[in-house]
Amino acid sequence: MPMSRPYLDMITRTLGITANTAVRQAHACKLCGGFAPPFDSVDFYKYCSPTNPFAFGFAGIHVEYRRCRDCSFISTDFFDDWSSEEFAAYVYNADYSRIDSEYADIRPGSIATMLAERLAAWRDVDVLDYGSGSGAFAEQMSARGFAHVTNYDPFSSPSRPDGKFSLITCFEVIEHTVSPIACVQDMISFLAPGGCIVFSQPLQPDNIEVIRGAWWYIGPRNGHASIFTTDALSRLASNCGLLLHRGDWLHGFGAQDATETSREILAAIGTPYAWLRLDAPEDASSFAPQRAQQVDAWHALERGGNVRFRWTRSSRIAWHDVLPQVYPLRLRVSVPFVNEITPGFAGACKVEVAGQVLTPSPDPRGELLFETTLDAPAENGVILHTPELASPHDLRGFADDRPLGLAIPVYPWEPPATTT
Ligand SMILES: [Zn+2]
Repeated sequence: MPMSRPYLDMITRTLGITANTAVRQAHACKLCGGFAPPFDSVDFYKYCSPTNPFAFGFAGIHVEYRRCRDCSFISTDFFDDWSSEEFAAYVYNADYSRIDSEYADIRPGSIATMLAERLAAWRDVDVLDYGSGSGAFAEQMSARGFAHVTNYDPFSSPSRPDGKFSLITCFEVIEHTVSPIACVQDMISFLAPGGCIVFSQPLQPDNIEVIRGAWWYIGPRNGHASIFTTDALSRLASNCGLLLHRGDWLHGFGAQDATETSREILAAIGTPYAWLRLDAPEDASSFAPQRAQQVDAWHALERGGNVRFRWTRSSRIAWHDVLPQVYPLRLRVSVPFVNEITPGFAGACKVEVAGQVLTPSPDPRGELLFETTLDAPAENGVILHTPELASPHDLRGFADDRPLGLAIPVYPWEPPATTT
């Protein structure tokens, strides 16, 4: 009997294509709370091979990945409740070397060569290699003159080292974690004051929307649960009180109070980058006390479709204390919106940051995007300037006489209580 027969009954029960199914199956992004609908479903045996990711066939188990509409983080909840023992039994088992043949030896050597070159001036710094695996990388670094490298691996050498470290290295770790925020917070617990983190991470390619789960790096058999973009890494950093230094393949996380050594190391790795999303406040009263004029900035919380949002109630809305104080800083500000009071209203908005007044660049997703570089310390806030507000009553004779501007989402995204 062909494989399809048993499914016919199942298909009959699911007839009816509707976008509500995707909404019902969406999650809130683990990093930014954004709307993360289904993105692709990949067989568990798919592994990280650029040439033949199904060389070992199909497992017949599908692993669902979702992608955030805001920070573009891709993640699966497939592994969320797995224990260390289950990972050891089903992913990092005796077969792992078959699906990642360079894991044990070749890659630690090439990573060490690259890092030793970049960090040649800081051979004396005390390093913790977080997620060290077998310890091959530390050995390679020692061979290159780095005298103080300590290993720690939550899986393979789980005894936690004493003391704090000026530099934490972390290779091929964060894509394996089901909770990147908890993972980075654990790293921070080992970090000396003002220390920094250097880690590797391939980022999603520009055509990811087209190739989706076919991208070689989305490999559930390798245990890849978290797939990043620059914005996702920036949000991961800011969630942990750190700032991303964006490189090519090596990236860094540093704190505002980074030591001179950390600043130099981070500068050798990448450039400071921040993605900032201007959300509507969940609780408008808690937003208000920072500036008296914010009291009247927002209308009440509403829900429309699958989104919670607030209409703006002022043509000038400020977000205070939101910028990292590191320069020069490459900054991307996004203002998501679900509605505008008149066509073209959103496109006429401007953002004021550090004395610069920015106009939005066109964005296919319909949000407002502003990009700039901040070269020097300035007022630590962002102001959204909108055209003059108008009411549905004045515009179209509706009963609603509230002055409205943009309808901006409230985060985290929450699924609708009922779907039809
Ligand atoms: Zn997100």
